[in-house]
Amino acid sequence: MSDPVLTFLEPRVLDLGPASATPSDYAHWRLTRDRENVAWAVLDKAGVSANTLSEDVLLELDKILDRLEVDRPRGLVIRSGKPAGFIAGADVRQFVGAADPQAIETQMAKAHAIIDRLERLTIPTVAVVHGYALGGGLEIALACHLRIAVEGASFGFPEVQLGLHPGLGGVARFTNLIDPLQAMSFMLTGKTIHTAQAKALGLVDVVVPERHVRSAVAAAARGELRAHEPGFIDRLKEAGPARRLAAARMRQEAEGQAPSAHYPAPYALIDLWEQYGGDDAALKLAEQASFAKLVVSEAAQNLIGVFLLREKLRGLGSAESQIKRVHVVGAGAMGGDIAAWCAWKGLQVTLGDVKAEPIAGAIKRAAELYGKISHGDRLAERDALDGLTPDLKGDGVRHADLVIEAAPEKTDLKKSIYAGLEQQMKPSAILATNTSSIRLETLSEGLARPERFVGLHFFNPVSRMQLVEVVSHEGLAGDVADAARAFVAGLERLPAPVRSAPGFIVNRALTPYLLEAVAMIEEGIAKETIDQAAEDFGMPVGPIELADQVGLDICLAVADMLKRELDWDMPETPDWLRQKVEAGKLGRKSGEGLYVWRDGKAIKAGGASDPDPDMGDRLVLPMINTCAELLAQGVSDDPDVIDAAMIFGAGFAPFRRGPLHYAKQRGLAQLRERLEALEAKFGRRFRPSDGWSRLEA
Ligand code: NAD
Repeated sequence: MSDPVLTFLEPRVLDLGPASATPSDYAHWRLTRDRENVAWAVLDKAGVSANTLSEDVLLELDKILDRLEVDRPRGLVIRSGKPAGFIAGADVRQFVGAADPQAIETQMAKAHAIIDRLERLTIPTVAVVHGYALGGGLEIALACHLRIAVEGASFGFPEVQLGLHPGLGGVARFTNLIDPLQAMSFMLTGKTIHTAQAKALGLVDVVVPERHVRSAVAAAARGELRAHEPGFIDRLKEAGPARRLAAARMRQEAEGQAPSAHYPAPYALIDLWEQYGGDDAALKLAEQASFAKLVVSEAAQNLIGVFLLREKLRGLGSAESQIKRVHVVGAGAMGGDIAAWCAWKGLQVTLGDVKAEPIAGAIKRAAELYGKISHGDRLAERDALDGLTPDLKGDGVRHADLVIEAAPEKTDLKKSIYAGLEQQMKPSAILATNTSSIRLETLSEGLARPERFVGLHFFNPVSRMQLVEVVSHEGLAGDVADAARAFVAGLERLPAPVRSAPGFIVNRALTPYLLEAVAMIEEGIAKETIDQAAEDFGMPVGPIELADQVGLDICLAVADMLKRELDWDMPETPDWLRQKVEAGKLGRKSGEGLYVWRDGKAIKAGGASDPDPDMGDRLVLPMINTCAELLAQGVSDDPDVIDAAMIFGAGFAPFRRGPLHYAKQRGLAQLRERLEALEAKFGRRFRPSDGWSRLEA
């Protein structure tokens, strides 16, 4: 889900209609009239920085509608008073722990009645959307007769990522307004729709800069703006036989992305549309019942839990970052991409290396990345490129608020780099390392200011991986740790605070899982069968494919390091794996590793046998056992941080809401028994960790 990070949007001046002379009758809304006799209902939810839809907000909207039905202004504008955006969807916290579908259905029916009433108003109604309109927010906008988008606005139905589908009439209204196949595709994927696309689809009727909002509203009130009408072909797509065919295809496609065994929401959505598409009243009713059933499902409760985990990590970096200038040392795979991402997020970045070629390569990659993620916003691309300066001599070090070292993983090399850097850095600047395996205690030996030295462990690829482990050590100053987390959150990344320990959280817990998969290959089990066992558990890709994606050289280096550093039983790394790495067969990046790769995809042989029921546990339990160990050892004291790190850094099955939560949900006593049974069969590496007693407590 690409949800907006509110704190990093530019403050802007919004035209919110005339100011109110009298105190508002509403806690969350402000209702005024402009000179053209158009009512402006501005939502500015009390006490929060982003608008969400909650019962009290809707009840106040109902009161506003009472008043408008009597006063009959010339038109109604609904917009947000928050600089960040329109409405960020329903307040999901209200669904946490929901267990009674009937109660949810009743609640949804009340909300539907209010939104239907908005739709039935006979005066022109206009939603003015700036920033974003998501989920329930978009459903409010869809109930208006017209939608005016302020340039840069984005739209989306992210509900599927919460194990839900739209629940406030959105399924009917969206499939009615635009091409229903496109509408379904957006609801099924939760993808963001940017302004130009929204206009082309007919989701918005006009796009204007903020300064033209008022004249666009006046034109709408005078009936001079035409609302988008769905085309004849669009309606044909909703006819019975076409709908059934399309629904079958959607189900097939959804299976590849989100298997029905684990993710019921997309299939519930397809069923709804297939059965009731074109019959608004029936569809809206069925939508309420289906939504209520989903909310109480384990998958939705867990996925809502994941959403809250994300919020929690974000909250750990909620202070405003003071870091404006960043210097990155080492323009390789990681340094180049970290620098590019920092510049994209508006920071002034200098990028150094001992050679010019990696810097040039990194700038080229950055330009390609910006082209992909800018959605045609050339100005944003240019600004980011302007902010990224090649700096072979390292002139930027003196001005940087933060220096990130991403040089090769060699202790002596890193230490000698720090010796040179510290002399030039501002005393107040922070020095960070992207090391994935070297202890911070070791790296900080000999530093003049160890208290300003922190680990920032980004994951590859930086532009897609949300997690950054923020690594602390004994000597780290509290304000530096705070600043590091705020910096990470400012980059729209999720900071997971961890104590310095071999492999931190993600690499440490992932390694036994990957090595178990290698041990299974050694036993003659087909790679495809092993991957299938993990996918059946709910991992997005199996361990063999993942090892190839990460790079076999990197996996091997991490495994070797963990073996050196820890008194820990792990399956041996076989010679053939080492030979592969030596021969340059590193995985996806070299075109061949454990699989052969073509066009970014692993070529898998068909006909492999189905995994036996033990295999999933055999792969996944060592990873979960390690997570318990990390908790016991205090690498993190917070099971939520460990769960979040594994979801956002390792792709742990999101609908299970993290390894430790899964363990609890499955039953700790049962899990212990399974581990003991596996220990009896395969050896000590399955011995239950001491950490389980902490979770049992
Ligand atoms: P890389 O080999 O791709 O890049 C390292 C760069 O550092 C090269 O361009 C090299 O020319 C440059 N360099 C060498 N000596 C230098 C010096 N004295 N001063 C400045 N630059 C110098 O390596 P990478 O994969 O980007 O890894 C960098 C760091 O990030 C390592 O600590 C690694 O453990 C860590 N890391 C890597 C990954 C990954 O997936 N590659 C993920 C997380 C963390």
